[in-house]
Amino acid sequence: MNAKPAFDLIFRNARTRGSAANVDIGVAAGRIAAIAPRLTCEAAEIDIAGRLVLPGFVDTHIHLDKACLLGRCGHDHASVSEAIAAVAAMKREFTAEDIYTRGSKVIERAVVHGTTRMRTHVEIDPRIGLRGFEAIKALKRDYAWALELSPCVFPQEGLINDPGAEELLVAALRDGGEAIGGCPYMDTDPNAHIERIFDLAQEFDVDVDLHLDFDLDPSWWHMEEVCRQTERRNYHGRVAIGHATKLSALPPERLRAATERLAKSGVAVTVLPATDLYLMGRDATHNSPRGLTAAHRLVENGVLCSVATNNVQNPFTPFGDASLLRMANFYANVAHAAVSEFDTCLDLVTDLPARLMNLKDYGITTGNPADLIVLDTDSGRNAIAELPDVLTGFKNGRQVFERSRPVLFPPQA
Ligand SMILES: [Zn+2]
Repeated sequence: MNAKPAFDLIFRNARTRGSAANVDIGVAAGRIAAIAPRLTCEAAEIDIAGRLVLPGFVDTHIHLDKACLLGRCGHDHASVSEAIAAVAAMKREFTAEDIYTRGSKVIERAVVHGTTRMRTHVEIDPRIGLRGFEAIKALKRDYAWALELSPCVFPQEGLINDPGAEELLVAALRDGGEAIGGCPYMDTDPNAHIERIFDLAQEFDVDVDLHLDFDLDPSWWHMEEVCRQTERRNYHGRVAIGHATKLSALPPERLRAATERLAKSGVAVTVLPATDLYLMGRDATHNSPRGLTAAHRLVENGVLCSVATNNVQNPFTPFGDASLLRMANFYANVAHAAVSEFDTCLDLVTDLPARLMNLKDYGITTGNPADLIVLDTDSGRNAIAELPDVLTGFKNGRQVFERSRPVLFPPQA
């Protein structure tokens, strides 16, 4: 007869997205050791009382290094290029300490909103050098107790047109860069930019995550070249493009063809609602286009997608609290998601971004790290509809935050 498993902690009466009834989740040595209706074991217990438990939110696309810049510039930027120029001007003065301070503020907000994994894009070029990268590495180390931070290094201001940028990218990839990004629309030679990024990705065996097709003119795009490079190098499932707002400007038949192309080549799409909505459609005097690609529709047709934060309080997006649940709710509202599609909207900030980042140990499954957050609701659909509080979170079985429920004080009778 097998000995009873010993747990360090048991979550009682948890509602997971996959189970019709409540289950208990047993944790041992920081990992999920058992999931069953009634675990019998002596261990510390936390009663979830039928609330929804998720493995945490996954942010595939955020810029910690240029977050929290409100107050440092005028914020009269009306276009993507003006926002890039505004940050480029401020960036020269950034110190590693300054970036660390601003980044830690955003990470702490993300953690208390339930994020457990995050890919941050880090600008690498001769103006900033490796200062941003060094700060991000320190943040990765110092917040490992709460969240896994993965740096994606990229040349925001171009590559072919920016001598010295490539050497710095290589140095970052040698020293902890876990993915490589790019920004072909900023380069004088976009196709050469894409080619070089893929060369480096192959050389260092890292995934590719590009800023791409960030306007509403569907008469030209770089998506085709990215799909071509992905296929040529057998990089299916290892490439993502962020924004892809041009897709929102396509009539149905062209969108169908583009969707098939993305699905076939295994290129994922990350929609960034806060920035896309803030910066697109600025030329319109009325009936402004939304400029938001319908990720849940792409998912329906076989394209891997995520919804992510991108910028927090800077010239690209002067808003942000790093809450992915709020972002998914915001997305669902703007993208006209039906109630029957709310579950997919929650997938866009949980399971699908985990797949996009090729995370092998994400999810509420025996053997995975006990990364669990508790939402004050009972289903995935209601998580999107109600925007409930995230009450507590655990990383590797250790509690990392708690939020008290509000208390009402009605007058005494
Ligand atoms: Zn971005």
